[in-house]
Amino acid sequence: MTVQPFTATVLGTPRIGPRRELKRATESYWAGRIGQDELKKVAAGLRRDTWAQLAAAGLDSVPVNTFSYYDQMLDTAVLLGALPARVAGVADELDRYFAAARGNADIAPLEMTKWFDTNYHYIVPEIGPDTTFALNPAKVLSELAEATEQGVNARPVIIGPVTFLLLSKAVDGAAAPISRLDELTEIYADLLGQLAQAGAQWVQIDEPVLVIDISADAPALAERVYNRLGALTNRPSIFVATYFGDPGAGLPALARTPVEAIGVDLVYGADTAIAAVPQLASKTLVAGVVDGRNIWRTDLQAALAKLASLLGSAESVAVSTSCSTLHVPYSLEPETGLDDALRSWLAFGAEKVTEVATLARALRDGREAVAEQIAASNAAVASRTTDPRLNNAALRAQIAEITSAGVQRGSAQERRAAQDERLHLPPLPTTTIGSFPQTVEIRKARAALVAGEIDDAEYTNRMKAEVAAVIKLQEELGLDVLVHGEPERNDMVQYFAEQLEGFFATSNGWVQSYGSRCVRPPVLFGDVTRPTPMTVEWATYAQSLTDKPVKGMLTGPVTILAWSFVRDDQPLADTAYQVALAIREETVDLESAGIAVIQVDEPALRELLPVRDADKAAYLEWAVGSFRLSTSGVSNATQIHTHLCYSEFGEVIGAIADLDADVTSIEAARSHMEVLDDLNAIGFSNGVGPGVYDIHSPRVPSTDEMASSLREALSAVPAQRLWVNPDCGLKTRKTDEVTASLANLVAAAKEARAGL
Ligand code: GLN
Ligand code: ZN
Repeated sequence: MTVQPFTATVLGTPRIGPRRELKRATESYWAGRIGQDELKKVAAGLRRDTWAQLAAAGLDSVPVNTFSYYDQMLDTAVLLGALPARVAGVADELDRYFAAARGNADIAPLEMTKWFDTNYHYIVPEIGPDTTFALNPAKVLSELAEATEQGVNARPVIIGPVTFLLLSKAVDGAAAPISRLDELTEIYADLLGQLAQAGAQWVQIDEPVLVIDISADAPALAERVYNRLGALTNRPSIFVATYFGDPGAGLPALARTPVEAIGVDLVYGADTAIAAVPQLASKTLVAGVVDGRNIWRTDLQAALAKLASLLGSAESVAVSTSCSTLHVPYSLEPETGLDDALRSWLAFGAEKVTEVATLARALRDGREAVAEQIAASNAAVASRTTDPRLNNAALRAQIAEITSAGVQRGSAQERRAAQDERLHLPPLPTTTIGSFPQTVEIRKARAALVAGEIDDAEYTNRMKAEVAAVIKLQEELGLDVLVHGEPERNDMVQYFAEQLEGFFATSNGWVQSYGSRCVRPPVLFGDVTRPTPMTVEWATYAQSLTDKPVKGMLTGPVTILAWSFVRDDQPLADTAYQVALAIREETVDLESAGIAVIQVDEPALRELLPVRDADKAAYLEWAVGSFRLSTSGVSNATQIHTHLCYSEFGEVIGAIADLDADVTSIEAARSHMEVLDDLNAIGFSNGVGPGVYDIHSPRVPSTDEMASSLREALSAVPAQRLWVNPDCGLKTRKTDEVTASLANLVAAAKEARAGL
């Protein structure tokens, strides 16, 4: 095979549209407002524009088939004929695809889970005993044809068999999906033949699973697969991409196979011993030196030095992003509100493509050819290192002082005694997680404020009216610990980011979270400080309306980091402690204002857990440390709650105990109290509220049902420690559902109390 190696590429791109065109079109299609033709037209236009821009920027190999109507794992399930039988009855192909992704009145959707340690969520394919793989290459072939017709040097991208099977789920008693690897490899062999037939010179096969400790066999399995695919005579050149970390033993394993190119993430996998893999000498190394998942500008000089050091280790070196730029916004261009310094530190999707092209040009034509770009990059690096907003000496000294003095509260018993005396709660106290339904009135008020139709004072008045209504409702329902309902918060991270120094909000920095859902993470660029109290007015207003305790409601440091783009110029731990100090100051102010119960939410505790086992302990240490810094500034009589959800917590259960919150509410409605057994197993002895009301469904749970959950919980946890609450915030629900469900919840608690 005498195919030209490529020199500059990206592993994938955003696909929701620079103005979220795909989101709007898909949602319109779902709502029946537009037809399939129109949706497909929008999609084709987005693909065309993306490819044209990549080629124009100077990439000599352009990824295709990275477009998706919903998710790339689901696309792969379709490609391999592995959709579950329950969607087979949906006649239309696209509707069948969406039914698998989202379900419909009769069909349960596939599960969704986090894509590695990103904030993207993929659809988990189901492999049952009856799953019969069958190649269905229409999508990839048509996108290849479209791009070729457009004159683009297209490189189809598919998810590899090892990654596909290891991330799929066995159902109906089937063996582990990976046991079907050899069979599936033959489907890929067929596909490669068809791609070659269609004129593809290169194919990119993604195997990110090689960077995680999911299976000790993964490198050997990959070696077997790529030996088999590499031995095919009729195939494109194969580029196997790893990303999101260090492929470890996966790299030499891939290098021993006949594949022509291997991609390595050199931003998050810097330790890879590339020089120690002699077989790379006959391959193209695709060097992921431009960070594909964070928004910082590349230090071109440092990246060039890294590239230069690799030149002797491979036959050729191609420049690339560390992963698909799916995880960053499209372009900096719409961000007109940034000061010049801040702007100069950033690179979104489009800017990263330019960086890749610039680096490839420097490798080809010498540094002088890009002297101007290097000078600009150097200037940005220099301004970022010297900007005072990134180095607040007083703040750093303050944190060092607090952490060295230790961040202990009184013992759990001392705290419980002090809190019992202050709060006088009944056994099995009832509470909620914080938010109440985001009503039409709340949305209208927010829109009116943004449009300038009402002023801040009027907006605040309307939010206060919501708070008053929510307090009244909770008193009528007879809940014990009340909340203000969070009407003023658009998002539990953004709300705090907007009030803290060291953050900025983008105007159009949307990234896909899953399907048509997009988020706009704040950018944490500098040292974080809290200029003024953030929540005290809301909490004290709510408390002024009732004699019951009102919980102050804050977001914890780990969750704030997890849902932001975070500075990359210092360890995450340092950033987390700065955020923690700001939250600590807020808890102290809440306490001084008379608030007796404060909840610090950490739903993302599990999300930032590193992909490699070796890195987990260090992460958990700062995750727990920053939570404790944020919650240990208050007296023993102030009750600290935390809330966890969205994940299986088994792997971090010890850390949950180490948080040492007085009360932990945790999603459990679906996992049937298993979490209590897990907590007992590690000797957890503080208050715990396993959710007894699944708020992800509009269904109103009955009193009987919740009373029976409570009886079950009481067999694992003594009554003095058990709390009664829903499993998450109520903001996505409707007021009438919530009212009925909480009435039943209070009744269930009364019934359970009577049985004590
Ligand atoms: N306090 C938040 C709420 O109730 C917690 C949200 C969450 O767990 N994600 O909305
Ligand atoms: Zn939650």
